[in-house]
Amino acid sequence: MAQSINCQKVKGTIDFYGELSSKKRYVENKAREICKKYNMEEIITPTFENTEVFSRSSGDGSDIVNKEMYTFLDKSERSITLRPEGTAGVVRSFLENKLYVNPGLKKYYYCGPMFRFERPQAGRFREFSQFGVEFFGEDNYLLDASVIALGDKILKSYGLSGKYRICVNTIGDFKSRQVYQVALKEYFSKYIDSLCDDCKRRLEKNPMRILDCKVDKESEVLKNAPKIKDYLTDESKEYFKNLQEALAYLGCDYYVDDNLVRGLDYYTDTVFEYIACNDDSENSINGMAICAGGKYAELVSKFGGPDISGIGFAFGVERVTNLMDKFGLFDDNVKTKVDFVLIGLDKVAKLFTIKLANEIRDLGYVCELDYKNTSFKSQFKLVDRVNAKNILIFGEEEIKNNLVTVKNNENGEQKSVKLDDFLESIKK
Ligand code: ATP
Ligand code: MG
Repeated sequence: MAQSINCQKVKGTIDFYGELSSKKRYVENKAREICKKYNMEEIITPTFENTEVFSRSSGDGSDIVNKEMYTFLDKSERSITLRPEGTAGVVRSFLENKLYVNPGLKKYYYCGPMFRFERPQAGRFREFSQFGVEFFGEDNYLLDASVIALGDKILKSYGLSGKYRICVNTIGDFKSRQVYQVALKEYFSKYIDSLCDDCKRRLEKNPMRILDCKVDKESEVLKNAPKIKDYLTDESKEYFKNLQEALAYLGCDYYVDDNLVRGLDYYTDTVFEYIACNDDSENSINGMAICAGGKYAELVSKFGGPDISGIGFAFGVERVTNLMDKFGLFDDNVKTKVDFVLIGLDKVAKLFTIKLANEIRDLGYVCELDYKNTSFKSQFKLVDRVNAKNILIFGEEEIKNNLVTVKNNENGEQKSVKLDDFLESIKK
């Protein structure tokens, strides 16, 4: 006998079915609707790219590039990587398709699976979905503030007010960082023995990344490290001050987190995260970012494109779903309500109900029917199972006289009416 196939999904992946898939789509669609109000365009890029799209943009000192990428050689020996994040692919597409030639601000949103080889735990998977936005064409604190406020608006639309905090920081412009990196290197060199192995490597490649370390996060050495705010150029200082004023004006409740640096190389000036809080239940994602982003003034030119600034963020759909679940924020919005179950009491009536159900669906209603049984009792089981609001019953009598017996399953009322009148009455 042939051996059966292993039915266990790959570690760190998720099967979405039943309410789980409804919740995921609910979260995604809500964000889509909001982005459409900003006249944003959806951009759909491939789930895999040439490896350098990620390795050269995120930086080879980043966790993503060092440890987390699913990289392989395809059959023609090209190095391919399953996308670990959305921005690099969008920028690649923006340039390849010369989307910058038209004037004005370009506004995109995307949604889809990302892949990272990480240790699976609550809120951390190997395949997960991100919903993200990218704005190209303006280097302006007002835009930064609007984008941060957009993230806030989306998260609030899920009912998550008060369940996360917005942390912002500036990591300065290129000039600020040059001086800061030297100061950090000098500081951390004194404590090299107390750093984890990854941070020892980071010290050489990109000492700012040490501040983002998950292992050394709570150590005094990290907490007492020099702060970027003491190394900012006057321009960067002014930019950050203006950004904060705009955020306050827009009603965004934010905190300045001196240690926030973000894990990717391409950010400049503005960085921000929305951190889950106020949840200490089991498997909680308290303290984890549900959404994160930043400005990248130099990424487009790093790809060989024109000097165009960008800013964006991405949120983890599963982390948002997790938080909403914890606070009971999904209710009936993820359950499909069946408006009508059509019951056919003989073969002729059954065929008739199949056709009629399609017509009623065209009017915008959800219809269900049982394709197999003709007895009332068996078909009523379906009514119970899907908790239908109404039942439409067709027997020999109804078919012959163009009638329908309508039963309201919520209050039990039942009446026989002309089918045409019934259809007319449910036309929206
Ligand atoms: P973390 O600090 O939790 O590792 P990150 O800084 O690596 O997050 P980003 O690259 O900023 O995350 O990705 C944006 C968002 O995508 C995160 O805020 C989070 O909600 C989500 N996310 C990132 N990695 C994962 C993962 N492995 N599983 C599920 N969601 C994730
Ligand atoms: Mg990470």
